[in-house]
Amino acid sequence: MSGSPTRKPVKVGRPRADSLVVVDKASVETDIGAAPPRPLAARERLGALLVHKGLITREQLEATLTEAPPGSRIGELLVSRQLVDEQDIAKALADQYGQRFLELSSSPPDPEIARLLPEQLARRYNAIPVRQLDNGLLLVAFVDPTDLRVLDELSMALSQRIQPGVSEPAEIVAAIDAAWRNTAESSESADQPVAGIAAIDAAVDNDSPAMDLVNKLLRRVIASGASDLHFVPTEAGLVVRARVDGVMRDFNHVAAELQAAVIARLKVMASLDIAERRLPQDGRVSITLADTRMDLRLAILPTTQGESAILRILRLDNEGIGISLEDLGMSSGTREAFERALAHSSGSIIVCGPTGSGKTTTLYTALKMLNDGQRAIVTIEDPVETIFYGINQVEVNARAGLSFARGLRTILRADPDVILIGEIRDHETAEIAMQSALTGHLVLSTLHAEDVLGTVARVKDMGVSHLVLSSAIRCILAQRLLRRLCERCKEPCPEEARLLPQTVDGRSATPFKAKGCSACMRTGYSGRVGIFEILELTPPLRALIEQPTANLLAEAVSRGMSTLYDDALRLCAAGTTSSDEVRRALGRGLEQLAVRSPNR
Ligand SMILES: [Zn+2]
Repeated sequence: MSGSPTRKPVKVGRPRADSLVVVDKASVETDIGAAPPRPLAARERLGALLVHKGLITREQLEATLTEAPPGSRIGELLVSRQLVDEQDIAKALADQYGQRFLELSSSPPDPEIARLLPEQLARRYNAIPVRQLDNGLLLVAFVDPTDLRVLDELSMALSQRIQPGVSEPAEIVAAIDAAWRNTAESSESADQPVAGIAAIDAAVDNDSPAMDLVNKLLRRVIASGASDLHFVPTEAGLVVRARVDGVMRDFNHVAAELQAAVIARLKVMASLDIAERRLPQDGRVSITLADTRMDLRLAILPTTQGESAILRILRLDNEGIGISLEDLGMSSGTREAFERALAHSSGSIIVCGPTGSGKTTTLYTALKMLNDGQRAIVTIEDPVETIFYGINQVEVNARAGLSFARGLRTILRADPDVILIGEIRDHETAEIAMQSALTGHLVLSTLHAEDVLGTVARVKDMGVSHLVLSSAIRCILAQRLLRRLCERCKEPCPEEARLLPQTVDGRSATPFKAKGCSACMRTGYSGRVGIFEILELTPPLRALIEQPTANLLAEAVSRGMSTLYDDALRLCAAGTTSSDEVRRALGRGLEQLAVRSPNR
C-alpha cells in the first residue's frame, strides 16, 4: 500500500470501512476550540470526592486550593503534599468519571495491542492501549481520562474508538517500558527519518501553529458553507482555495515554513501515513463542529511543487438536506410531476445533470420523503454523503471489488421496496436498475447527462432496449444549480427586461444583476437555487422513445414540459438570479434563451 512496509499498522494508506474514526462531539469541539483551562469545578469535584472518601479533610483541601497556582492540577498538588498517593488519585478519578481503574502491574497490557500506539505518542500522552473489548472499543489506560483533546488525538492515531480507563502514572510508564523493551519496533522507530518524527511532533502537538491553523480553516470553511478545500503547493507556501456555491475562490495562504506541518496535520486527522510523500493517499475522518456532523474526505497528491491536499466536506446530518422539494427551487408543476412519480411503488426515476448540479441533494430529499418507516429502503452510493436513520446504505468500494452492479445484485436479494443507486454509469448497472424498476421496485438514481433527452440517449447507448427503457422509466429530471443574487446588494438591470417575457407566473419581469458587498464576499451572490426540467413518460411519450430524441422533445414541450431554459428565464424574471449566472451555468445567456425558448 505505501512505500514503507516496515512501519507499524497505525497509519492507513487507503480508506477502509473500519478506518472511520468516530469521535464524540464534545471531544472534537474541545479539539477544534482553543485549549480550555481545566475548569475550577472539575478540581473541586475531585477534591470533594477525596474528602467524601475520607482520604483528606475539607480543611486540607481548602488550604491546598487556596495556594494552588493557576492551571495546576489538584491531584498532583495533593500528592506532592503527601496527603494522598497516586493510586488514591487514580481510583478517585476513575470513580468520578465512571471509568475502570486499571492495575497494570497485576494485569499488564497485551504487548501486541499496546504497540498499536507508536511509542512516542504513548510517552507523550502517558497512555497505553490495554486490550480490545468485546464491545469493539479499545481499552486505553490514561493518567488523566478527562483530557478530551488527548482522547481525540489517540482515537485518530489508532483509528479506533477508545474506552478510557485510569491507571497510576508510574504503572503506565512501566507498562510502556515493558511493551517496547527489546522489541524490533523500538530500534525501528529509532531509525525513522528525523524529518518524519519532526512532522509527527508538529502535527500532534496540541499547541502547534499548524494545528491551530487547520482548526481555524475548518471552522471558517464550515461557516462559509464551502464543499471543498484545496491546499495547492507553490514556492511561497500553500494557497488555500475553497469551493463555495460551486465556485472556487482563494481562501487563505499558508506560509512555506508551516507547509509541511499543515499537510502532516491533515494526514494525522485522516489516519494517513505521514512519512509517505511520494504516493497519493486518501482517507477520511468524521468530526462534529458547530453542531454539524461531517465526514472529511482527504486526498493527498504528490505534485511537482510538493504535496497538495484536497479536503471534501460532506455534511452527514440529514436535517439540513433539502427540507422540501419546494426549497430546492422546484416550480409547482415540476414538483407535482416529481411527486407523482415518487408515489408509485415501482419504476425508475432518474435525476441527471453534470457534476455539482445538485442531483444527490434532490434524491436525498426524495429519500427523506419516502423514509416513512413503511418501506424497506437500501442505497448503494459512491460515497455515502448523508447518513439516514433507518436506511441501509452501502458504499461502493472499487478496490475491494464492490461495484454498483455487484452491490445491487446483493441488495436485490433482500427485495427492498426502494433502491437508490448513486449513479448509473455502465451497461450492467443500467440493465439491473431497469429490470428492478420493472419488477416492483422504485429505483432512484442519478446519471451524468446534460438534460432529459441526453439521458434517454445515454441509457440507449448503454445498451438498454427501447422496450425496457420505455416501460421502466417513470420520469427523468434534469437540473442545474444557479447562484442566487445577494439580496443585500443586487441592482436592477432594466436593459435586460426586453430579453424576458413581460410576465412570468403572473408577475411582471424585474431583472437584476450582481454587484457585490461585504455580506456576499464581493461576489454579488449568496446561496444557490435549482432549475429543473422534468420529462414524465406518459403513454403518448413512451411510444416516441424509439424515435429520434428531437421528436420526443417536440412532443413533450407541446404537452407542456418546461425546459431548463424556461426555468432559468423564470428565475431571471423574478430577480432571483442574473443573466450572467445563467450564461455561466448553461453556456447561454438570456439573449439566446429568449429566442430559443419554444414556449414563448
Ligand atoms: Zn452582496
